Amino acid sequence: SYVWLNGAIVPATEAKISAFDRGFLFADGIYEVVPIYSGQPFLFDAHMERLERSLREVEIPQPVSRAHWLEIIAQLHAHAPLEHAVLYIHITRGAEFPRNHLPSPNLQPTVMATLSAFTPPVGSIAPARATLMEDIRWLRCDIKSISLLGNIMAKMAAQQDGSIEPLLHRAGRVTEGASSNYFIVKDDVLITAPADTLILPGITRDWVLKLAKKNGISVEERPFSVAELYAADECFLTSSTREIVPIGTVSGQLINDGQCGPITEKLMTCFRNSRPKAVKK
Ligand code: PMP
Repeated sequence: SYVWLNGAIVPATEAKISAFDRGFLFADGIYEVVPIYSGQPFLFDAHMERLERSLREVEIPQPVSRAHWLEIIAQLHAHAPLEHAVLYIHITRGAEFPRNHLPSPNLQPTVMATLSAFTPPVGSIAPARATLMEDIRWLRCDIKSISLLGNIMAKMAAQQDGSIEPLLHRAGRVTEGASSNYFIVKDDVLITAPADTLILPGITRDWVLKLAKKNGISVEERPFSVAELYAADECFLTSSTREIVPIGTVSGQLINDGQCGPITEKLMTCFRNSRPKAVKK
């Protein structure tokens, strides 16, 4: 496989990063993940806006323009012809010796991108399990930081509990998953946590909110509690690579009857219909 690294495509085995890269030493960097259906990046501008915002928030200069990213995707595609793919973008503040928390000004960011195979979800309504856990992460979860230890620890604990994803809360207020956003449905109203500094503003989250509004479903972006979650009619999670996954059980407790609810199923159908389609040749 190949990676795009600082301006050139190289075989992955030959891609070299400095041992003094601040991404390696401090997790001083940000990332982005863009799903590509039939060669077409989905919600590309929204992903780019989030990427550019993450860079601004951590004061790393934007090293690659949107137009350039589209060229890089085409170059990567030329080396790995994948029908559907996931674009991974990784940008760190750069490399510097000796190690020093405070970065020097004008460092050259390290930029890396890969394409990997992606199987778009088939839209199974089989409900999944999640595990309730305290959110121990930092207070700027709106930045898509490559520092993911808190997310990884939660993910491993969820797996040990037989779940597909942690469901994180702070003092009883539901935040998000380790790599997903959560929604509940109560009395036909779709509810999800507000896009503040406690969650990553998921691109899928935003798209699902738009689809819901377009289809006459009432939506509320507001804090909701663990108690509301357990009393909900429906629950699901969203992410770019998993789209919408119905959640039937949280920490062993059923949500309603534990099945995929009608609003979740409707949104799953709307979502599938909104994905980029294969271009007819
Ligand atoms: N929250 C976190 C912490 C995530 O890592 C992700 C996935 N990157 C999401 C939410 C979902 O975001 P998106 O819909 O943009 O994939």
